[in-house]
Amino acid sequence: MKLIDMKLSPHFTMKEACTSKSKGAQADILLYVTAAIAINATRLSNEVLEPLRMVLDDTPVTINSWIRTPKINVAVSGSKGSQHLDGLAVDFYHPDMRTAYDALAHLEVGQRIIYLDEKEKPLWVHASMPGLDWEWWEGKKSWKKPDGSFVLQSLVCYPSETPKRYIPFTGRATPVLSAQGGLVQ
Ligand SMILES: [Zn+2]
Repeated sequence: MKLIDMKLSPHFTMKEACTSKSKGAQADILLYVTAAIAINATRLSNEVLEPLRMVLDDTPVTINSWIRTPKINVAVSGSKGSQHLDGLAVDFYHPDMRTAYDALAHLEVGQRIIYLDEKEKPLWVHASMPGLDWEWWEGKKSWKKPDGSFVLQSLVCYPSETPKRYIPFTGRATPVLSAQGGLVQ
């Protein structure tokens, strides 16, 4: 069986994990996939995407970007050391992205980020697995990485802005912004 035909879980395939909008990129991603990356993608598929799909009444979760090569990650302005490089993060669309984002709160995700446009219309949702060596810090609602840095679990991002503005999510899918741009609690 070819790698691209591999089923990661009942509803997701390696082909979807190698999704890219850039021409010819899928072949590059396939060459980049190691056994470790395939295992990571399988974990993400079974432990995040399948339960999420179930919570969302079996509505389709459409993959936008999952595994990325370093080159593709740079091309899409991904963060340095992005979990997409390891197959541990996925960006997806759903007919109701706010509900999908909310649903991720019930799963042990590494990070969940909802990307909004300037009109606060959801663009896509990012979900990742926590690294195996990450430690949960309840007080900070963050994961602590072995290097001592913290990864906030829930974030709202405004991609239309440069630099990107990430706001900690405080428990509502629709953040209300004050005139100063701060989050109204
Ligand atoms: Zn992402």
